[in-house]
Amino acid sequence: MIRNGKYVRSAERKVKEKEYDRKRFYGRNHRFYRRAAWKRLRRQQLLREPACYRCGVFATIVHHKKPHKGNPNLFFASDNLASICEHCHNSIENEEERLGYSKEFGVDGMPVDPRHPIYKQRTYI
Ligand SMILES: [Zn+2]
Repeated sequence: MIRNGKYVRSAERKVKEKEYDRKRFYGRNHRFYRRAAWKRLRRQQLLREPACYRCGVFATIVHHKKPHKGNPNLFFASDNLASICEHCHNSIENEEERLGYSKEFGVDGMPVDPRHPIYKQRTYI
């Protein structure tokens, strides 16, 4: 958008750029994915759990249940991994983009994503 002869980024454009940066730094292009340790971990995960944890078809992607956000402790933690098919992975990503948080639940029954609205409510039991 051009305003007063100057290029001005629209709010929508800014959101898109932020999203792009997030994907680039934390998404599947992250430098951790090129590590040999990751390649080994990924192979082990797919051998251990060859089926998609959501729909049961043959999984091709290893997903981080708790978003790693560049944190190597979360990235390389085998208990944070789940085998998933491409279709389910895409639907998770689209859902997260729309909601702003993941709807996945951990083994403790609590949402894995700290952005989940449940963590915004302060209840004292
Ligand atoms: Zn699936």
